[in-house]
Amino acid sequence: MNAAAAEARRRCIERSVRDDVRALTRYDVPDAAGFIKLDAMENPYALPPDLGQALGAALSRVAINRYPDGDARAVKNALRDALSLPADAGLLLGNGSDELIQIITSALGRSDAGVLAPDPSFVMYRRNALMARAPFTAVALRRDFTLDVDTMLAAIEQARPALVFLAYPNNPTGNLFDAQDVERIIHAAPGLVAIDEAYYAFADASFLPRVLDFPNLIVIRTVSKIGMAGLRLGYGVAHPHWIAEFDKLRPPYNVGSLAQAALPLLLAHADVFAEQAEAIKAERARVADALAALGATVFPTKTNFVLARMPDADAAFAALRDARILVKNLHGSHPLLAQCLRITVGTRSENDALLEVLERHLMERTRRA
Ligand code: PMP
Repeated sequence: MNAAAAEARRRCIERSVRDDVRALTRYDVPDAAGFIKLDAMENPYALPPDLGQALGAALSRVAINRYPDGDARAVKNALRDALSLPADAGLLLGNGSDELIQIITSALGRSDAGVLAPDPSFVMYRRNALMARAPFTAVALRRDFTLDVDTMLAAIEQARPALVFLAYPNNPTGNLFDAQDVERIIHAAPGLVAIDEAYYAFADASFLPRVLDFPNLIVIRTVSKIGMAGLRLGYGVAHPHWIAEFDKLRPPYNVGSLAQAALPLLLAHADVFAEQAEAIKAERARVADALAALGATVFPTKTNFVLARMPDADAAFAALRDARILVKNLHGSHPLLAQCLRITVGTRSENDALLEVLERHLMERTRRA
């Protein structure tokens, strides 16, 4: 009976789940319990205790038995205040910017007008195109990870994509594309260009103030990298006519009451997060210099992570893992990322621990050679 039930279930899954979905592997999030976590571009600093207490008090007043405000007005007002958004711009909120990418791609992706993005870039652009059954065109970056803008323009001309994603700065390479190249792409694109500014806080560059200067632009951001990854809140900024279309696909209560209560309170202390971003930028320079001194090839970064090419990325990753330090091993994920580790910038002591392990590992390696 059990074997028969299992077989019936297996056949039903095979019959009903889409082939392309069954062929996928899930977006893997390793269990990091007990590890120094330098793999997911989180801000390493905890909330100051007084802010944590104020947050606890605010959350205790939330009517958890009620649905949240479907328009998340308090969140939108707080974002408008904190970001001095263009007054005429509309806001789309998501459960992380991951959900915004999903909403935008499903609104635009069609079998005859797909999605285009540089490669390597954030893996969810391709995956969401697949979900939307839209063809995905990947345009290789140059070896130094700059945009090959002429090839991009030719690919846009040929594929006529409904949607172009540009991560600005880019993940996993860390660099910021040339703003004039980006503008040429926006002008050439027949559809929408989504500039994904997940790492804006570390970049000193943004298209947000100019989002309404172009008819076909949305800027996507997140609070994840500045210190609130646990809230799951992303926001898209575009002309209200674009936002109105996307809002039709947004699940009605996609920002929970706890996040809605927390965000205005936390954004009222934006200076705390800004200070933390400055500390991260200073540590980023220190980590990059130290890795270069150890012999790694360190690529320019405008994010809160450092991309470093090691003599043997698998061995370096394993040495770090054995020391309970988690980074992202990109070796094997893309030819341009051969032997590369993506290392999120941590606190000073976390970074020291990382550098110590890598130094020991590289010295042992040289001794054995
Ligand atoms: N965009 C980019 C470029 C990212 O690197 C990430 C996270 N790795 C995201 C979007 C998604 O971030 P979140 O869903 O936490 O807002």
